[in-house]
Amino acid sequence: MKTTIDLTAGLSADLDIGERIGMLPNVASQRTKNLKGRIAGAKAVTSLCCYCAVGCSTLAYVSDEGRLLDVEGNPDSPINEGHLCPKGSALFGLTVNDQRWTTVKYRAPFSDRYEERPLAWALERIAQLVKKTREATFVREWTDPSSGERKRVNHTLGIASLGGATFGIEENYMLGKLMRSLGVVSIENQARI
Ligand code: SF4
Repeated sequence: MKTTIDLTAGLSADLDIGERIGMLPNVASQRTKNLKGRIAGAKAVTSLCCYCAVGCSTLAYVSDEGRLLDVEGNPDSPINEGHLCPKGSALFGLTVNDQRWTTVKYRAPFSDRYEERPLAWALERIAQLVKKTREATFVREWTDPSSGERKRVNHTLGIASLGGATFGIEENYMLGKLMRSLGVVSIENQARI
């Protein structure tokens, strides 16, 4: 009685290795064979993770139409050598994401819900509150308690600034300029925290 199966039976001797899985013919369908990688043919643009001060380098893959297809770690970077932490690995979703909020959400004092407001309304409210707080808390001179000496300080301790790590270099520069010109001394950025 025959107890073994000849797996090579029916195989052409000149079948390419790529057309086999082990000793069997590769049965991938034509549709599967036609599939291409998401970044096939895309242009890789060197960029930087925006999230923290480590400054990991990335490769942003862009299609011919300028559409972002994927973001990966840059293997040529001496800082991250192609690796990205979980935040950096989510960079693609930061940019291409139809769930992302694009409108202002406002929660009034003591309210338990958010309301949608126009961006212009939010900017006006922030400007008015900054002006009111600065005028109420601005200190021009301060007396040193140990020496009694009067010193010019021109600052406010009533306002603090916390920048987001998704800020670019130019945005952080502008924020720093604005805050210092207002006399704000408590300036921090999430990228450094
Ligand atoms: S957030 Fe992560 S990937 Fe981005 S720069 Fe910092 S360590 Fe690198």
